[in-house]
Amino acid sequence: QTPLIEVRDLVKHFPIRSGFLDRGKGGVVHAVDGVSFDVMQGETLGLVGESGCGKSTTARLITRLLDPTSGSIRFDGRDIAQLSRKELKPLRRDMQMIFQDPYSSLNPRKTVGSIISEPFLIHGMEKDDAKRRKLVEELMDQVGLNPEHYNRRPHEFSGGQRQRIGVARAIALKPKVVVADEPVSALDVSIQAQILNLLRELQRDLGLTIIFIAHDLSVVRHMCDRIAVMYLGKIVELADADALYGHPRHPYTGALLSSVPVPDPVLARERKQTVLGGDVPSPANPPKACRFHTRCPKAVDGTCDVDEPQLEVKEGGNIAACHFPLADAEVAAAVPTSEV
Ligand code: SF4
Ligand code: MG
Repeated sequence: QTPLIEVRDLVKHFPIRSGFLDRGKGGVVHAVDGVSFDVMQGETLGLVGESGCGKSTTARLITRLLDPTSGSIRFDGRDIAQLSRKELKPLRRDMQMIFQDPYSSLNPRKTVGSIISEPFLIHGMEKDDAKRRKLVEELMDQVGLNPEHYNRRPHEFSGGQRQRIGVARAIALKPKVVVADEPVSALDVSIQAQILNLLRELQRDLGLTIIFIAHDLSVVRHMCDRIAVMYLGKIVELADADALYGHPRHPYTGALLSSVPVPDPVLARERKQTVLGGDVPSPANPPKACRFHTRCPKAVDGTCDVDEPQLEVKEGGNIAACHFPLADAEVAAAVPTSEV
């Protein structure tokens, strides 16, 4: 099977305006710094990492809301990294985004019906008003909204319902790929599961391919087939979801996992949590060699700060970039789930 999306050596550098951040030196933020991965047709790939790791930038590059500095993005066999705005327009139908904050991405003055109609109008489809309205009502029904609320405005809906509006708009044109950028992190925990279930159902029914972005590992487990963990603009580990949770190899993945809540209070007390010291370093001035060495509990001076580890297959099949990957015993201490 050939991947639906192939990302190779993707780089995005943002120039810093001389001043505040760099004390007048100018320079660049290495937001995404040589990222490569494939996304197979029909799979859900998770992109996980703390804020500033480049996951949202990666999402915006893939959907070409941003122009890459370099690298290639093959979508359905075609390199889309350098296409012009005009050439991208037909592609926009096949790739849609769902954003974190549904409210700020919905025009408050428009009715829900006209918000969900927008993609049809932008792409010159379904010009017949009655037919379009019927399609929009079907979409509302499909995402669990009452079609009778067609003429309501966004403020009349709850947070979860607003995200359903965002989902309806994203699937309106039957895209091949949906990129969901932290689609539930602004929602109450009780509502999160409903939206995740909706996305899973839609994926099954529509054969969607989903790139699912999250800032921690607690929501992606049951959502994703494979997960890529990012740190300061690079992928540090990539594995099947079960392998990533069962035997993470990169110490950063281990630290993220050790902060995922465990329901069992005995296990919770016994676990050896890895609390990462310090803040995420600035992507304008990332640490040399292994970028995680300033916070890594396993860092070895003279190696980790000198040689950059490359992504390679580790024990259990995980792909990780680390000179001293976690052993199973270390994992068992930090992530004491019954499944390890
Ligand atoms: Fe930690 Fe060294 Fe591995 Fe980097 S290479 S994650 S510093 S052990
Ligand atoms: Mg983000």
